Amino acid sequence: MTTRTKRTRGAAKRKKTLTLPLLVRRDMVVFPNQVTQVLVYRNSSMRAVDKALEDDRRIAVVGRRNAGEREYAADDLYDMGVLANVSRTLKMPDGSLNILLEGENRIRIGEVNLEGQIPQAEVSILEEPPASSDEVSALMRAVVTLFGQGCKLSPLLGEEAHVMAMNVDEPGWLADLVTGYLQLPMEERQGVLEILPPLERLHHVHRLLAKEVEVLELQKGIQTEVQDEVEKMQREHLLREQMRVIRRQLGEVDPLSRDTSELREQIQGLGMPEAVQKKALEEVERLEGIPSVSPEVGVVRNYLDWLVNLPWQQETEDTLDTKVAGRVLNENHYGLKRVKERILEYMAVRKLSEGKLRSPILCFVGPPGVGKTSLGMSIAKALGRKFVRVSLGGTRDEAEIRGHRRTYVGALPGRVIQTMRLAGTINPVFMLDELDKVGIDFRGDPSSALLEVLDPEQNHSFSDHYLEVPYNLSRVLFIATANVLDPVLPALRDRLEVIELPGYTEEEKMSIASRFLIPKQVEQNGLAGKEVVIGPEAVRRIVREYTREAGVRNLEREIGSVFRKIAKVVVEERQPPRRVGAAGLPKYLGPARYTWGMAGEQDEVGVATGVARTEAGGDVLSVEVTLMKGKGNLTLTGSLGEVMKESAQAALSYARSHQGDHDVSAAVFNEQDVHIHVPAGAVPKDGPSAGVTIATALVSALSGKAVRKNVAMTGEVTLRGRVLEVGGIKEKALAAHRAGITTFLLPKRNVKDLTELPQKVRRDIQFLPMESVEEVLTAALVSANGSKSGGEDQEGPGEGAASLDDKRAPRVAGRVRGGGTGKAGSRRKSGSPQV
Ligand code: ADP
Repeated sequence: MTTRTKRTRGAAKRKKTLTLPLLVRRDMVVFPNQVTQVLVYRNSSMRAVDKALEDDRRIAVVGRRNAGEREYAADDLYDMGVLANVSRTLKMPDGSLNILLEGENRIRIGEVNLEGQIPQAEVSILEEPPASSDEVSALMRAVVTLFGQGCKLSPLLGEEAHVMAMNVDEPGWLADLVTGYLQLPMEERQGVLEILPPLERLHHVHRLLAKEVEVLELQKGIQTEVQDEVEKMQREHLLREQMRVIRRQLGEVDPLSRDTSELREQIQGLGMPEAVQKKALEEVERLEGIPSVSPEVGVVRNYLDWLVNLPWQQETEDTLDTKVAGRVLNENHYGLKRVKERILEYMAVRKLSEGKLRSPILCFVGPPGVGKTSLGMSIAKALGRKFVRVSLGGTRDEAEIRGHRRTYVGALPGRVIQTMRLAGTINPVFMLDELDKVGIDFRGDPSSALLEVLDPEQNHSFSDHYLEVPYNLSRVLFIATANVLDPVLPALRDRLEVIELPGYTEEEKMSIASRFLIPKQVEQNGLAGKEVVIGPEAVRRIVREYTREAGVRNLEREIGSVFRKIAKVVVEERQPPRRVGAAGLPKYLGPARYTWGMAGEQDEVGVATGVARTEAGGDVLSVEVTLMKGKGNLTLTGSLGEVMKESAQAALSYARSHQGDHDVSAAVFNEQDVHIHVPAGAVPKDGPSAGVTIATALVSALSGKAVRKNVAMTGEVTLRGRVLEVGGIKEKALAAHRAGITTFLLPKRNVKDLTELPQKVRRDIQFLPMESVEEVLTAALVSANGSKSGGEDQEGPGEGAASLDDKRAPRVAGRVRGGGTGKAGSRRKSGSPQV
């Protein structure tokens, strides 16, 4: 709409009611004193225009409601319109008519005739009441000022509109003029048209104007912000481009492009697999495309950094000389023949197969301190490879092994890839510690990722989430370690070549101490050349009274403490002892922690000694049975698991069904309650292999016959009294040996396990194979006349079932009853001992 003001005076003098051709508009309102351009399409409307041109050019213009509808009726027309002059008409190529209307007066629409050839209406001209007061001029000024502001803010209005408003001297006219310029919907415009009193109309328009100016201001603010942002970016880009050009002209190289071209060269020289190199080069290209201020740059750079710094080809050459390797292994470790042999075999086969051999995946299983880790290091040294290590204890999240995807904020590769970077070669000895401590939770199962690492079929293309490209782990020599094998996923277990390190005997510990631990600790405590020695009897005392373990970790620690104390003496310039003897130990280590020897102990009624396999190797534990007045109820205490409870029930049933055999009277079961307790109550225990021990303690209590103090036993019991095979004989036998047990009763089917025991243990302990509880009781109970029914003084039951070694050395008569109690108990790890 174009608007222009034109004052038509004298309209008021015209006749009050007239009949005029009618032009109906649905989208616009024509105001008095304004020139409005209108497009006419309808034939009826064109005829109305023609009629006006034929007469005196006057026409009534009125708006209508329901603008959305094409057809309309007289009722749809507004009551008020404008009388206008058709000042010019133009025929348009599309057949429409372009006309200019000069608004004259507000009119009220009376009778309307839309039916005839020419739409017509009776109209009466409305006189505008005069208005002039101080209020009027104040309001006019305010409106003009505000309108001026609006003109400045609006991109559509210019200074011209403002000037026009300044020159209007009537309030009604000003209101109409301003409304013409405002962006208002049809209804609002009609609303202004229908307010006749000029002052009131101007007030209304003032409010509309204020609202519009506010919107314009907001719009401007937003626009400025957006524009500023765009301008800043453009400016930076421009400056950077200029800088680049200036640099080039000065003969300098742009740091970013220098960087990326160096990176490119580096990538091409790394010998990466083709796919990886392609990926890396793509990332470099991406990097060049990102503006250097974007945070994305850091992410891509970090990723490239990982790709570039991972070993892809670098490898150490293996020493495949078995003689040298054998020497290295022996230099660092005493014994462990089987493991050492396995390594030497591997080297030999590798040498023959000229390096094409797949690496085996070894798994060292054994209690803490038996040398699993240090052996791994020695193997690396023997082979001339790098050694790296990851502890899996407490790993619960698959992402810890496999990394997070790059979309994660702060994502990194998993620990396998991190460790490979640390190794710097593709063929290190890679130790995965504590395989049995891997957990599972809602974040996924790390074992499945480990499966991929440890499967020789798959690990040539290990996929890390962060890395996105496959990584070849097949040249790595993996060695896993675990305390026990049971918690390891069977699928994982299948891929491992398990080598057991069950623990050391006392003699072995003595040798390890004198040949390895003492020299090492002397060195570590700065006492080299000071000629201090710990005598063998002192070492033996440490083993017996200060430690109770399958490995030598605590032994090493205690030896270390002795030397530390001596180092302090040296520093204080006092005379250090030349030799630390057994008697002098409490001075360095405090009072003994465990009792060794059974001097004061006697054969007891109702107490039998069993052996358990624990995470720390094995341990002896006693079963106690007490009878009290009652009705034959059974009470079980000592954190027993379901299986162990059941075996107690079975033992009781056995005893009941065999009453009379061992001087047990039937009445006992009706008049007494039975309480079975396994001390170290806080440590959970489970497993069926305490069956024989419980039965022995029970029959002992019921019959009043004592159990021999130096007998330990293991075996599952059936209701019929048969003794069944159990696991962990090696660990159990070593634990019994440590505790000074001299007779060990074991299921007959377990005799095969004894071959792997050290000579020393086989010599010191008499192993008696058992098939029935009867045999166990005969061997373990002291008979009523006081003579012992088996063990030291007699051959065991069953001919030919005696110890494996005929040459029996004098036995150390000593053990601690209830080996799981007291300090020994607190030393245990959390896993349930399997008895
Ligand atoms: P693990 O990994 O089985 O817990 P470590 O490898 O940490 O045990 O061994 C603990 C300490 O005992 C190390 O200092 C190690 O050198 C020493 N050690 C263990 N077994 C032997 C052995 N057979 N000969 C020499 N030292 C040993």
